[in-house]
Amino acid sequence: FKLATKGAQALQPYQPGKPIEELEREYGIKNAIKLASNENPTGISPLVVTAIQAHLQELPRYPDGNGFRLKQALAAYHSRTINNVVLGNGSNDILDLVARAFVTAQDSVLFSAHAFAVYPIVTQAIGAKMIITPAKNWGHDLIAMRQAIEPNTKLIFIANPNNPTGTWVSKTELQAFLDSVPETIIIVLDEAYFDYMDAPDYPDSSLWLDRYPNLVVARTFSKAYGLAALRIGYALAHPDIINLLNRVRQPFNVNSLALIAAEVALQDRAYVMNAIALNKVGLAKLTQGFEKMGINYIPSRANFITFDLGKPALPVYEALLREGVIVRPIGSYGMPNHLRVTVGLPEENERFLQSLKKVLTKP
Ligand code: PMP
Repeated sequence: FKLATKGAQALQPYQPGKPIEELEREYGIKNAIKLASNENPTGISPLVVTAIQAHLQELPRYPDGNGFRLKQALAAYHSRTINNVVLGNGSNDILDLVARAFVTAQDSVLFSAHAFAVYPIVTQAIGAKMIITPAKNWGHDLIAMRQAIEPNTKLIFIANPNNPTGTWVSKTELQAFLDSVPETIIIVLDEAYFDYMDAPDYPDSSLWLDRYPNLVVARTFSKAYGLAALRIGYALAHPDIINLLNRVRQPFNVNSLALIAAEVALQDRAYVMNAIALNKVGLAKLTQGFEKMGINYIPSRANFITFDLGKPALPVYEALLREGVIVRPIGSYGMPNHLRVTVGLPEENERFLQSLKKVLTKP
């Protein structure tokens, strides 16, 4: 369509996993399990259910456009002030806000190969140039990224850990990188899977805001907090950055139910701790399963793991679908031989492993 910008014309739309019902219909299967979108399998926090029910009567009104109460709760949680917090309609919204506030069509945005799919979308929507550095062992190569900075680079996205590879950069590597990048470039540390990460070298970058005034730390309620459908995420940054993000933000970007749900979810530590513990056990089960089957996988501490079939993965994806197990093909990330599976409930992990074994040993 000629009227659209070049950026919009070049864009590949994000391809979300299809809903279970749609796939069941398409493939004539029943009781399918979905391990495709890195969602929390443990259900909704009962405290969140109660809070949402109690606030349903607020639906005719616009939400609090400043999200004051939630921002206060997040500020307290992170020992910051509300001037360090901005709320987003999912953390995807945050990524978009940062690009729109800091990047023009004359600028460039830097990120790694195999990095999260929303970075090219928000960059191309603006018509800015993408600088994509090759990965190292599937992970972000921060040395290569530092060297790839151009005079017009305004923004760098780092997913830590990265989706879909599960790879993470260590505290030492990341600090050396942040120390070496000029303060005129905004660096987004996208930490959607922060809560699951128990690797000793994995940093809590939210503690670094005073040291790096160009740092934006993006977090979400979609994963360990189990609120993916409500669409709510946030960023922590220097008040000057937050101020700018608030200017480009849509007035009511986060809805009332998401605001109240996130506020309560933040208090329900038992729910989050249970989800994290279950994930740890499930991840161990999956890696053991891969090892038993002699399948290579990329080590992960997040709520998903990506494995290498050593051959085009789509037929295996399709065969798993016919078994009623939905995983995620990641050919669009330049990884056509890999599949990504989300850690599910114990019985789901078991069913995935059994199905994988079956489809791989079929003549
Ligand atoms: N960043 C990364 C690395 C992700 O994997 C995701 C979820 N797929 C997001 C951000 C966005 O999550 P949400 O918009 O649901 O907060």
